[in-house]
Amino acid sequence: MWKGLVGFLVARPLIAIAIAGVFVGVSLLFFTHRQKTPVTHRTQHVALTDQQQMQLGSQQYNKTLRQERAQIVSSGTAYAQVQRVAKRIEAVAGRDKPNFVWKVTLIRKNEANAYCLPGGKIVVFTGILPLTQNDAGLATVVAHEVAHATAEHSAERLEREHLTEIAAAIIAGGIAVTPAQYVHVLAALGVGEQAAELPFSRKQESEADHIGLIYMARAGYDPHQAVTFWKRMLRASKGKEPPEFASDHPSTARRVKDVEGWLPEAERARPGS
Ligand SMILES: [Zn+2]
Repeated sequence: MWKGLVGFLVARPLIAIAIAGVFVGVSLLFFTHRQKTPVTHRTQHVALTDQQQMQLGSQQYNKTLRQERAQIVSSGTAYAQVQRVAKRIEAVAGRDKPNFVWKVTLIRKNEANAYCLPGGKIVVFTGILPLTQNDAGLATVVAHEVAHATAEHSAERLEREHLTEIAAAIIAGGIAVTPAQYVHVLAALGVGEQAAELPFSRKQESEADHIGLIYMARAGYDPHQAVTFWKRMLRASKGKEPPEFASDHPSTARRVKDVEGWLPEAERARPGS
């Protein structure tokens, strides 16, 4: 009878995929785990494990590197700066997520954007560098993006959008995933332009600001430089909200106030204080 069932499924791959999907869905339901975000200690319920998030992030990262191969910057001052800053932020964030495997890639693109995929793969576009200006400015952005990953905001967003099972199917090889579903998952991961379709919630953005500020301070950067950076963003946006990576960010004026409010905590987080 078992043999008969296997034969039946081999002849009907779509049914087999559907059954596999149900199993994945059921197992995800069972394994939803409770945990706390770093720094802010918010209790959250996340269905995707660290391992699954890392797989999903790595798959997308490799795809991006293939697509943007000609635009990858692999030497020079900007490259060295991005590597230097990311290394220091990664070392700090790695204490909260020891499983994550960190890597940063600088891509030549005239877009003021950066993101960190679940599992620790970071992408920075050269278009953000005129705004970040110095190491501390870049650290503010990288730490903010890395905080989205360590606080598992994408996994939360996938759940909120009922995309966890689709994400699990992509991890498993993506056979039964439609292009539209795939784009939705990308958006939930915060990838480039797609991210605008499905922004992080304001609460998550504010949380990433808070965690990011503490991370950059722990990494030895002056947290006051984060305020300077956000004020620069405010001026650059001239009243309009800043571009993509800040799409649904709390209004920049509000965020400057919030970040200033967290400065005493950030001061205490600096090494040697
Ligand atoms: Zn953000």
